[in-house]
Amino acid sequence: MCLDVDDTLLDSQRAARQGLRELLGTDRAWPVWERTTDDYYARYVNDELDFDVMCVERTKAFFAAFGEQIDDAEATRRENLRMAAMQRSWGLFDDARPCLDWMRDSGLRLAVVTNAPSAYQRKKIAAVGLADTFDVLVISGEVGVAKPDPRIFHTACDALGLRPDEVAHVGDRLDTDAQGATRAGLHGIWLNRDQRAPEDAGVPAITSLHELPELLVGDLAALPAVPELIR
Ligand SMILES: [Mg+2]
Repeated sequence: MCLDVDDTLLDSQRAARQGLRELLGTDRAWPVWERTTDDYYARYVNDELDFDVMCVERTKAFFAAFGEQIDDAEATRRENLRMAAMQRSWGLFDDARPCLDWMRDSGLRLAVVTNAPSAYQRKKIAAVGLADTFDVLVISGEVGVAKPDPRIFHTACDALGLRPDEVAHVGDRLDTDAQGATRAGLHGIWLNRDQRAPEDAGVPAITSLHELPELLVGDLAALPAVPELIR
């Protein structure tokens, strides 16, 4: 079983919103921050910007959207404040720990598959108490490819010692996680926490990790490696 981290296990959006609130005294500008982040994080994932550079450039772009031009030093100062506040707010969704415990108790081997820098993501995983939860951590900053590239999913399968068709991957991004995993030959599952309704997701969807065990023992029971593990 492969799992995404941000907004799947960890309520990253809540933490990011809290970081912005502590920096600005309000989170009214959250939609602008979210759009700016989507834009700049994609440029990090696509190897156009180093992560640290991305963080500074994103902050400059965010304030520029409100007509304030700041230099690198000031952007770094503000980003450090925001980042520290965000990290104090890192936490798991309520449904993450019960689901992880169930999977571990069922004998499933667990891998993280995440798009992020190595040290940052390992720090985050440890901060929420998951340092010893996974058999394998597959982090884009370490393997050199990012979701939805099939190679990152195949790296996880190889590390688990399983074929792609023996592995499921769950994540909050329909394209990056669920459809990407499916194209790589895994069983992609969309964690649709906001209950958005695309016309045809083309993959199984759940709205909470509480629904994952039932899906694994039900619809995905055809998985070659699953039935004997969770019987
Ligand atoms: Mg995610």
